[in-house]
Amino acid sequence: MTNYSKFLKEANLTGGIWHSADSNLNIPVTNPATGDVIGHVPNCGTTETERAIQAAATAFKTYSRTDVSYRVGLLRKLHDALMDNQESLAALLTAEQGKPLFEARGEIAIGAAYILWFAEEIRRAKGEIVPAPTNDRRLLVTHHPVGVVGAITPWNFPSSMLARKLGPALAAGCTVVAKPATATPYSALAWGVLAQEVGFPAGVLNIMTGSAREIGGAIMASPDVRKVTFTGSTEVGKSLIRQSADTVKKVSMELGGNAPFIVFEDADIDAAVEGAMVSKYRNMGQTCVCTNRFYVQEKVYDTFVEKLIVATRALKIGNGVDDGVTQGPLIDMAAVEKVESFVADSTSKGGEIALGGKRHPKGATFFEPTVITNASADMDFATDEIFGPIAAVFKFENEDEVASAANATEFGLAAYVYTRDVGRIFRLNDSLDYGLIGFNSGLITTVEVPFGGLKESGLGSEGGSQGLQDYLETKYVCIAGI
Ligand code: ADP
Repeated sequence: MTNYSKFLKEANLTGGIWHSADSNLNIPVTNPATGDVIGHVPNCGTTETERAIQAAATAFKTYSRTDVSYRVGLLRKLHDALMDNQESLAALLTAEQGKPLFEARGEIAIGAAYILWFAEEIRRAKGEIVPAPTNDRRLLVTHHPVGVVGAITPWNFPSSMLARKLGPALAAGCTVVAKPATATPYSALAWGVLAQEVGFPAGVLNIMTGSAREIGGAIMASPDVRKVTFTGSTEVGKSLIRQSADTVKKVSMELGGNAPFIVFEDADIDAAVEGAMVSKYRNMGQTCVCTNRFYVQEKVYDTFVEKLIVATRALKIGNGVDDGVTQGPLIDMAAVEKVESFVADSTSKGGEIALGGKRHPKGATFFEPTVITNASADMDFATDEIFGPIAAVFKFENEDEVASAANATEFGLAAYVYTRDVGRIFRLNDSLDYGLIGFNSGLITTVEVPFGGLKESGLGSEGGSQGLQDYLETKYVCIAGI
């Protein structure tokens, strides 16, 4: 197996120095496929985080004034370093997170692509010269790095979620205090190793592991942190938004989803099943853009379900490092229990298990990819995020009915629609309250476009030119007496 020991950093990074927790206490990190402990990371808290914020604030004074071409150069080197180490980083990611190696490789590559994208995009972060109402004045609009950024990331994409935050922050001239999820800290700490290796100055990137409440609390309380970018649950996101009020920070929030996947009778059903597989089962269904609810029009319901079952049965479950595996473990036992409770709730209300529905003999955290038919609006997964490998299939009659069913959630992140009707595509583009809509595709994320949710799915966008704007302050400058 690929050796990732260079990136298994059992320390935190502050001001260019790798260190332990003040208490010397550690947290074990386990491989979800085997339950084996793969290493330990420091259990840091408030005091260590306050020091990291200070280091970032000090570094900001000089880093924010560096030449754009210098920062672009560093980011390009960081991109290359990621790709040069893609195999080791992917192996580390699979070891701590569980996803199949091919998905882990893809995650490293898209993370690197985000870095390159923002290295390019910062060169186009233009200001404006606005025509003044009188000739004796010149009016400018200028952009400036926002300041120290707090970046809090989840366990499902521990590398690329950080990339979407580090890319724009480091390009803009911000410095960062990052807090990865406790289940998957090494993929984030690896960014620290690489950032040092390619020459980012001390204090530009600081990384803290440990108590989420304490580290998060210190980040939110500090007046030096001017922006917080968070990807995770809606519940924690809302708490961070509340905490941001005291220091009036900028916040970007990528929160939960409950994606509908709508198949109309005019759709190419084979293409729809292909899209369904990737949008449902990628990362074992543990992504915020994963399909939560399949809505299939009456006439093609049975055909779609039959084909979905055939494709789902062909998935290979196992340790993500093994050849041909497409489905790894769930992140922990709580995730398995949650998936089980969705199955029990649904079957008690008339849902039928067409495939799967129980734990898999591979091990405690493995769950069979599951198809449930006869799904209805009173079942828990109609409103709650599944975050696991259950395909729940609802039946619908017409476009109006399905559009309102699809919108009947507080979430508004991703939606998918399969249809060949161009008029319907534009109608649904208007009527679906979602920030990302894939027509005839189940996989739509790419670095060039904004990724962000409507309603309670979030605030702000990551990626695209929009993904940079949240890291820049705008100043209006009036020069009078010309
Ligand atoms: P998920 O479990 O889906 O990743 P969470 O919202 O629980 O979603 O976690 C996302 C990130 O937020 C993780 O890094 C987690 O440690 C962190 N987190 C959890 N609770 C808090 C909190 N109270 N303050 C700050 N960060 C938190």
